[in-house]
Amino acid sequence: LPAFLGQSVIPIMNKLQDIFAQLGSPSTVDLPQVSVVGSQSSGKSSVMEALVGRDFLPRGPDICTRRPLVLQLVHVQRKMDDREVSEWGEFLHLPGRRFTDFSHIRKEIQAETERELGDKKGVSDKQIRLKIFSPNVLNITLVDLPGLTRVPVGDQPSDIESRIRAMILSYIKHATCIILAVSPANTDLSNSDSLQMAKLVDPDGSRTIGVVTKLDIMDRGTDARSILLGTVIPLRLGYVGVVNRSQEDIYANKPIKDALVAEEHFFRSRAVYQSILDRCGIPQLAKKLNQILVQHIKTVLPELKTRINTQMVALLKELTSYGEATDSKSGQGAMLLNALTKYFHVFSSVIDGKNQEMSTS
Ligand code: GDP
Ligand code: MG
Repeated sequence: LPAFLGQSVIPIMNKLQDIFAQLGSPSTVDLPQVSVVGSQSSGKSSVMEALVGRDFLPRGPDICTRRPLVLQLVHVQRKMDDREVSEWGEFLHLPGRRFTDFSHIRKEIQAETERELGDKKGVSDKQIRLKIFSPNVLNITLVDLPGLTRVPVGDQPSDIESRIRAMILSYIKHATCIILAVSPANTDLSNSDSLQMAKLVDPDGSRTIGVVTKLDIMDRGTDARSILLGTVIPLRLGYVGVVNRSQEDIYANKPIKDALVAEEHFFRSRAVYQSILDRCGIPQLAKKLNQILVQHIKTVLPELKTRINTQMVALLKELTSYGEATDSKSGQGAMLLNALTKYFHVFSSVIDGKNQEMSTS
């Protein structure tokens, strides 16, 4: 993955998200996060995995993602001297338990999905929250959402389509959400669910990136050049074409590294893509995301500062109302206020221009 920008600002963002989650308002706060949307089996989970560079998500031809997965990537320093495992995952619902085997993470996502929903095909808006700590990741929060479907299967309610639609909208409607609108290249772009939904909440396309998957299985004689160039449906931030692993690759346990090599080979060996290689491949998508994210953070910092200020005032009021009481609740509140104050100061310094990390050069 390319070196990422805004290195020391994004951890603050993630921390804030945690703080707000503790305040009980995780989805009402407009913090930059990236949501992957699209119809079922369009390749959303595959794209997200490739961006992370690890295999850990349930993927397949059936409905796999049935609850929103909020994935917070946390960059940790590489340790040169010891042999300690430096990559691991932790679920919010299993605090303190480190998953070092990523296939166990996938199993736990499946198990936790089924704990809530059974093994039929039901869908819920109750989040699964996972953190992945690694020296190899961008500091970013990604949300993998259930895909849009039309016809109820299993024990899905008859209004499954509108339910999933509402769920997706509740994420992408936030002005700070960056939308990865996934469309498979082997279906007509004008039928794209993801572009249609993105258009609803982001009509001028200022926070939507088009991701076109399955370039390897397009109809013979066709290619995605005009889609990627934006001549089919223009998109302000443009499109990136990708080739993920096929179901056969998944059955064969093809490692993600090999998949990235194969993807690069795919694009380099096709004449039509030579002049637009900057719109081709997962690494280019990561790069594009980086640039957008940094720009985005710069824009929203002042507003965020105001929000935190408001939260702090509210918290102070609440603490005062406890009076002399030193029960655990007021202790928690004081800790939270401390944390908020700390991050408020960091924010202030960033906004006031002491922000070399925010340089995009
Ligand atoms: P989701 O339902 O949108 O999350 O889609 P998944 O990531 O689970 O992928 C659905 C199916 O499409 C899986 O069998 C993947 O192997 C396959 N798939 C996804 N992207 C590609 C791609 O770029 N090329 C090929 N050949 N298959 C893909
Ligand atoms: Mg999925």
